[in-house]
Amino acid sequence: MKTTFVTKEQLEKITQKFPTPFHLYDEKQIRERARALKSAFAWNPGFKEYFAVKATPNPFILKILQEEGCGVDCSSLTELMMAEACGFSGEEIMFSSNVTPAEDFVLAKKLGAFINLDDRTHVEFLQKTAGIPETICCRYNPGGYFSISNAIMDNPGDAKYGMTKEQMIDAYKTLQKMGAKRFGIHAFLASNTTTGEYYPTLARILFELAVELHQETGAEIAFVNLSGGVGIPYRPEQPEVDIAAVGEGVRKAYEEVLIPAGMDQVAIFTELGRYMLAPAGCLVSRVLHQKHIYKEYIGLDACAANLMRPAMYGAYHHITVAGKENAPCDHLYDVTGGLCENNDKFAIDRSLPEIEIGDLLILHDTGAHGFAMGYNYNGKLRSAELLLCQDGEVQLIRRAETPQDYFATFDFSGFFSEK
Ligand SMILES: *Cc1c(COP(=O)(O)O)cnc(C)c1O
Repeated sequence: MKTTFVTKEQLEKITQKFPTPFHLYDEKQIRERARALKSAFAWNPGFKEYFAVKATPNPFILKILQEEGCGVDCSSLTELMMAEACGFSGEEIMFSSNVTPAEDFVLAKKLGAFINLDDRTHVEFLQKTAGIPETICCRYNPGGYFSISNAIMDNPGDAKYGMTKEQMIDAYKTLQKMGAKRFGIHAFLASNTTTGEYYPTLARILFELAVELHQETGAEIAFVNLSGGVGIPYRPEQPEVDIAAVGEGVRKAYEEVLIPAGMDQVAIFTELGRYMLAPAGCLVSRVLHQKHIYKEYIGLDACAANLMRPAMYGAYHHITVAGKENAPCDHLYDVTGGLCENNDKFAIDRSLPEIEIGDLLILHDTGAHGFAMGYNYNGKLRSAELLLCQDGEVQLIRRAETPQDYFATFDFSGFFSEK
């Protein structure tokens, strides 16, 4: 059974001050998850998690993670600006982008961030636009299919990211000539994996590549960046990834591949987003309408503009009706938002307790890639973000958008000029 981190009583109190819909984050759980990850990799002295800002781009969340010793992984100019504003600098910032504009590289270089190059041609592009830093990372794509114990996990051969092995070797040689002294290796081969084998399998591939690159080019490998991809159990029947076992699995590969090659100084980095934040957030929404036609519909005051994953990927998000946690799930509903899009459904044919207008619904696991993927289709406004602090207080960490925000990028002056 999936449980929520707030009760109906707490939510009714919160909604007196902050109207629904809103995303609510649990500070306690964020800290616990950051500590569990850190402890799983404590065997590696250089270990650092660079939280993937795109998952939950909110400065208050980034500050909590910063206090837990995390850095940030940015993918764009504005994410770099947010990192800078939060006080991250230098090697606390990873810049893992693709199809990168020149100005993004310029800011990343100015901040002293680790720059992770997605393509062979970005070597010369970076040299021309921002200059080559002493430490630089390249992103690897092994091509083909990526499988774990005969199960195909994903299809890197079809993915736009990274460089081939030949390009990696060539890039390292060229970067050395341009003055680079230390190198990183990065790859992201499968998303939302719930097997504990993902990181260990990926690590082994990257460690073997690290040895080969070092022997082939003489480059000093400073870090291996395992990127994101560790998943969470969105469904009640799915198991939780055992992060301590994942850390041990990576250690085993490290001891079998890197240590015998004399490469015992390599730091392990991660760029987790979903694993860190998804379960520590939920979307809270109130039932506006009920509709009985060929099916039973529950209409919420939230819509896909607040949480796009179900509409975009058919993703499952568990739903709890606040206060009815123990009621029998003997009704079958489609739970929808109000977009003029028939895929604006948070759940289809979901067994839930009997729902009444005014009930509060809790959509689980929206703490990562939830608010962040929001948009303004149908003129819908982005919701507020709230933080349930460790002392039980609730803090507004981003206000809800207003119509003024929606209209802010228009210049209306022509409409209202005197006739
Ligand atoms: C999206 C992304 C991440 C985070 O992925 P999760 O699935 O949230 O862990 C990390 N690194 C890069 C380069 C990404 O694009």
